[in-house]
This record gives sequence, structure tokens and C-alpha cells, in this order.
Amino acid sequence: MSSSGSPDLPAGQPRTGQPGSEAGGLLRDIGWSRVPPPSYSQLLKQLRQGSVKELVLAPGQRQLSVTYTDGRRVNVPVFSNDQLLLRTAQESRVPLTVRDERQDQATASLVSNGLLLLLLFGGLALLIRRSAQVANRAMGFGRSKARMVQPEAAVPVRFEDVAGIQEAKEELQEVVTFLKQPERFTAVGAKIPRGVLLVGPPGTGKTLLAKAIAGEAGVPFFSLSGSEFVEMFVGVGASRVRDLFRQAKEKAPCIVFIDEIDAVGRQRGAGIGGGNDEREQTLNQLLTEMDGFADNSGVILLAATNRPDVLDAALMRPGRFDRRIHVDLPDRKGREAILAVHARSRPLSPEVCLADWASRTPGFSGADLANLLNEAAILTARRDSTCIDEQAMGDALERITMGLTAAPLQDSAKKRLIAYHEIGHALLTTLVPAADRLDKVTLLPRAGGVGGFARTMPDEEVLDSGLISKAYLQARMVVAMGGRAAELVVFGPSEITQGASSDLELVSRISREMVTRYGFSPLGPVSLEAEGSEVFLGRDWLRSEPHYSRETGNRIDAQVQQQARLALDTAVALLQPRRELLDELVTLLIEQETIEGPAFTAVVERFEQQGAAQPNRMSRLRR
Ligand code: ADP
Ligand code: MG
Ligand code: ZN
Repeated sequence: MSSSGSPDLPAGQPRTGQPGSEAGGLLRDIGWSRVPPPSYSQLLKQLRQGSVKELVLAPGQRQLSVTYTDGRRVNVPVFSNDQLLLRTAQESRVPLTVRDERQDQATASLVSNGLLLLLLFGGLALLIRRSAQVANRAMGFGRSKARMVQPEAAVPVRFEDVAGIQEAKEELQEVVTFLKQPERFTAVGAKIPRGVLLVGPPGTGKTLLAKAIAGEAGVPFFSLSGSEFVEMFVGVGASRVRDLFRQAKEKAPCIVFIDEIDAVGRQRGAGIGGGNDEREQTLNQLLTEMDGFADNSGVILLAATNRPDVLDAALMRPGRFDRRIHVDLPDRKGREAILAVHARSRPLSPEVCLADWASRTPGFSGADLANLLNEAAILTARRDSTCIDEQAMGDALERITMGLTAAPLQDSAKKRLIAYHEIGHALLTTLVPAADRLDKVTLLPRAGGVGGFARTMPDEEVLDSGLISKAYLQARMVVAMGGRAAELVVFGPSEITQGASSDLELVSRISREMVTRYGFSPLGPVSLEAEGSEVFLGRDWLRSEPHYSRETGNRIDAQVQQQARLALDTAVALLQPRRELLDELVTLLIEQETIEGPAFTAVVERFEQQGAAQPNRMSRLRR
């Protein structure tokens, strides 16, 4: 019975009891097995007969590889968990190996699993890092967040980028010189100020100036905003200050810049509900650190604020921020220079005269002017034009000062009423000698409910000197009443509208200030209310009682009302005899939608000259 077995099976004979096609496929696949496999029962028989040398089972593939004693090998399909076969093999002592055929799969799955693991761990690590950062921020108390700018790391701003604030620039130039050549100062025994406070309205270039110093001086520059000191955890601010100064001392000579210092430097003891302990601690730490400097240690503290009035007095003491530099709104020359700085990077059409625009933008800050040119550039880009022209500048100015244009009014009755209202303002501007100059009057509505507007331009001289006369304020009140007055004259007392509400607000404010602050009233030269007293809300809240008696209070109110009424009466008196002129101007405005100042004045002047022929009318006009 030795080498009988399967060879007695004719090739190609159908096998029974097994999935034939599968076996055929396997046969084709496995090149080394040319022998047709035995049937299942044959195999069992062969096993018992002892003609099989070895069995290798691959359960997953349901395949049994049979090696005969004569060396032939075949594959036989089997059930994956064939107990009969196993028992038979065991009984006949044929060695049976179970092949772990998952190995191939395993390598594949190992790779993919590995990738998955990697991803998981990566993600986990990221999460841990994140939360560590968060924890750091919250718990790693007070590492200074100051951004240090090394001298090599170029701060792109230079002094030449700052225009129109010459004095401030010169003073700061001195600081730069000190940082670069301290010997020049120490040789003659000069002490350099430790703290320089930049004071001025928002947008005048304080932050820009500080950056310019960093750019010029070429020393390390630490900058931190005041609000960054004040955090939700008590003590963080103080330790931040410590940390900042420690770093600064290591890097001396250097500049430490604290922007918006009023966030930390507010008067202590102010603030509702017992004050802000955290802020006070921070401020105390700041004061302590400033005292800790030796003279000429090379660290210069620079700070900026637009609220010097709220700063704690201890901050301003000699040895601390003992030098103040005022950064004011630019004058006309300054505005031109600032416009020129910002025009450097923008293609201006040659017709644009910056001096002209400087005189058309009184009261604008450096930031406003930068914004003006930027708006103009945006409009230019939108129009697919290549250089900024007068038109774009004009539209940009309009947009900044009046807001976006809305669709023109259709309703003609409403339009007429608005036209009379605005013409009322405009006409009074030209009639009252002390009033501002009329820039333009328009019926083009603006987003936000403004139906039209008459825009005036403040007198440059008034603006620059900062001195305001009683006559000027009275004139402003009369002009502000112009809208209501025109409605009264034309439509009668029952047809007046609420459109004048903001005018009335302005009048009331001016009137009250005249009485309580400037001594412009029969109440006499007394100051009854201080400016900006609401700043120390916490401190002054308790002291809500006014400085004056109730009787004085009544007189103030009566006086405010009387002045407002007088302004309205004056406005009506000026408009009433000029009803024809009002009608003429309204027709013109509805037709043209916008009348420029000079054209408007020309119409008024022509009318007045005709009127001069009728003396009785003229006498009523003169105030
Ligand atoms: P602030 O005084 O409020 O700190 P900034 O320094 O932040 O004002 O000014 C804002 C922007 O306005 C600046 O980045 C700059 O573009 C422009 N700007 C303000 N003042 C000037 C100036 N004097 N010269 C040139 N640009 C200015
Ligand atoms: Mg600033
Ligand atoms: Zn009005």
C-alpha cells in the first residue's frame, strides 16, 4: 500500500465532496502542485494507511497541504475546523502543522494599525500640548507676554514715516540719541528721563512714534499693551510686570513700551465696588519696578495714553513718567505732511493737490488721514482705475464723514420737507457772520436715516487756537436751529417734525456748557460743572450731589431753555423775511441734489443785493 493513494486517480476525474472550482483555481495558482488532489474520503484513507508524511493546515484559507511519503505534495480543500480530519491525523500520527496564514495579512494590518496608532499618539500629543499651553496661560502665572523686537529684527517704521508732530519727534530723537550714545549725556552729568509719557487723542500716532523709536534706535524693544497686564487671575499682572522688567534689565540698553497705560495706571481707589485689586497690584508693582532702576541704567520706559487725566498721580511723580510729550492733532501743514507720507505708497493722479485736501480736513487725526487715502484707494480699485483722482478723494471723504450713501429719496413731499430743513441750516450758515463756512448742502441721503445734510467747515483759526468765543457758540446754536426754523416758517407750527431732534440735542449741550462751564450767562462767571467728571465713575459716583444749590440748578435750567429759545427766535427772524430765497434755494437743491458752498453763497449774495434796494427789509435782516 505504499505508493498507491492518489496517483491511482485519473487526472481530471471529477472530485466529489469538495468545492471543485475552488480547488481548480488553487491548482492553477500553486504551480508546484501538478498532482490532482485526492477526495476527502481518499485523504482520510491515505492518512490511516500511512502514506502521508506531513500535513499543513491553513484554516483561514480552508486548505490542507498534504505531503506524501514519496515527496509529492497536493492541496486539498477542507472545512476550516475539521474535527474528523484532525482526529484522524492524530490517530495515525501524521504530524500536523497549523499555519498561521494571517501573517501576510498581519504585516499589512500592522502597517495600517501602526499608522493609526501614530495618528492617535500624534493627536494626543497635540492635545496635551494645547492644554498645556492653556494651562500655562491660566496657571503659569504671569510670564510676560511682551513682544520683544530685537535690533536685527527690523521694525520697518522710521521717524520719516511719522509726520506732522514735529515737537514730539524732536523730543524723542533725544531719547534715541541717548540710547545710541549715552556717554554724550553722562559726560556732562545729565540724567536721562526714565519714563516718557506720550499723551494725545486717539489716532495721532503715539504707537507709531514708539515703533519709529524702536526702528531708529536699533536697541531691543519690548512692547506690551496695558490691557495685557490685567487678567482674570489676581497677581498675574504684577508678576508680568516683574518678568518684563527682569527681561528688560538683562537686555539694557533697551526700550520698554506700554501702550494704553491707562488700563493699568488708573487712579487707585477708583472703580465701582471697591476698585480692581488686580489692577492696583499691577500698578503698585509697576511703580516699585520703576523705583528700582538705577539712574542711567539704560532702560527707558515709554508709555502712551489718551487719558492722562485718569492716570494715578504716583505715576507722574519725578523719577517715574516725569516727561510728558504731547502728541496733538496735526495742523494744516501737519496734515499735508501726513497725507504725503501715506501717498508715498499710492499712485496719486497729478491733479490731486494734497495741500487742498489738508485744508479740507480740519480736525482729522493722522489715522483719519491714513484712512481717507485708503478709502480713496479702495474706491479707485473698485472703479478699475489706476490712480487716485479728485473724485475718489471726495467720495472717500464723504464716506468717512457722512457714512455710506443710500438710495436717493423718491417721495417728493418728504424730500421737499428735508430740503427746506437743510436749506434752513445752510442759509443761516451764510447769514450769521460768526458761523462756520458752508462746505456743501445735499439731499443725497445717507445710510442710518439721514435724509440730507448741510456740512460746514470749522474755521482753521478757531480750531488751531482752541479758543471759542461766545459769539461763535451763539452762532452755532442759531445755525443748528435753522432746520426747525425753516419748517416753522414754511409749514407752520403744527407741521414741524422730529427731524430736528439731534439739532436740539446739540443746542442744549452748547447752551448748558455756556452756562455751567464758561460763564457766558447772567448766572455769572462761575464754573458749576467740571469737564469729564464722569471718568472717575467709581469715585465720584458717591458724590452725585452737584456743587450748587437747588436754586442755582433751577436757574441753570431756566437759562439753558432761554438761550435755546433765543436761538430759535433768531433763526426764525432771519428766515421769515427770506421766504422767497428759501423757495428758490429749495427748488435749486431738489433739481441739483447737491449745492457746493461757493455756489450757494453766490445765490444768497445776489438776493441780498436786490434786497438792499428795499431798506425796510434790509433793516430787519441785520442782527
Ligand atoms: P495712536 O496715537 O492712537 O496710538 P496710532 O499710532 O496707532 O495712533 O496711529 C494709527 C495709524 O494712523 C498709524 O499706523 C498711521 O498709519 C496713521 N498715523 C497716525 N498719526 C500719524 C502721523 N503723525 N504720521 C503718519 N501717519 C500717522
Ligand atoms: Mg495707540
Ligand atoms: Zn437739522
